[in-house]
Amino acid sequence: MLKIKNLHATVEGNPILKGINLEVKAGEVHAIMGPNGSGKSTLASVLAGREEYEVTEGEVTFKGKDLLDLSPEDRAREGVFLAFQYPVEIPGVSSTNFLRTAVNQVREYRGQEPLDAVRFLSLIKEKMKLVDIDQKLLSRSLNEGFSGGEKKRNEIFQMAVLEPTLSILDETDSGLDIDALKVVANGVNQLKSPDNATIVVTHYQRLLDYIVPDYVHVLFNGKIVKSGTKELAMELEEKGYDWIKEEVSGTA
Ligand code: ADP
Ligand code: MG
Ligand code: MG
Repeated sequence: MLKIKNLHATVEGNPILKGINLEVKAGEVHAIMGPNGSGKSTLASVLAGREEYEVTEGEVTFKGKDLLDLSPEDRAREGVFLAFQYPVEIPGVSSTNFLRTAVNQVREYRGQEPLDAVRFLSLIKEKMKLVDIDQKLLSRSLNEGFSGGEKKRNEIFQMAVLEPTLSILDETDSGLDIDALKVVANGVNQLKSPDNATIVVTHYQRLLDYIVPDYVHVLFNGKIVKSGTKELAMELEEKGYDWIKEEVSGTA
């Protein structure tokens, strides 16, 4: 589904990603971990196509297409979803209105009929059950005055409704409480299918107490320096990141 080859990227002229190689297949959940400043959010942003990030080398293909050639909007329409980066506040726009527009844009791009109000409502109801979200939360203006947990719930709900092929979750908010973590994890676990894939970016292992990744990668200084399974995440939790740094400098 996703193939990243020798990806290099800069921010304001500073090299941040220094040769990332990663392959994600349908049905897989990958966790990207690593110390602060290693480039995790940069990788997520580059995949989503955010402007400040310049790709200087390498290639990324998504379902066989050159992802880097697509605008951020077209990436979203192709089924790439970057969670936890959504508009912070859109006063007066309720989540459901926002979502209906988004869903119908995706459908139009795929050559499908737009959903009418009735069919959209049944989709909403089905997904509300799936991620356990409250009707009241949906009718409020998008993210206006939402608590951290409510924002996460909303984002997971957006993800459920948009049915992305590749979801990228960047846990930038280190202040997530256990309830919010569980919401996120439950959503990811519920939405997992043989046809989609998820990349979970996280500094801490605790999210992985609830989401079981198929693969864990450690990003350090702009490169994936170690890959493994969930045992690697447990080892990191226990030993921290210092031994990785030592291993990397030892082989350099
Ligand atoms: P992580 O998510 O692993 O903590 P980031 O990708 O956020 O790491 O950051 C990696 C490096 O890139 C840091 O040194 C950070 O200061 C720099 N960086 C990231 N985004 C920007 C930006 N928009 N402008 C300037 N520097 C940035
Ligand atoms: Mg950071
Ligand atoms: Mg980050």
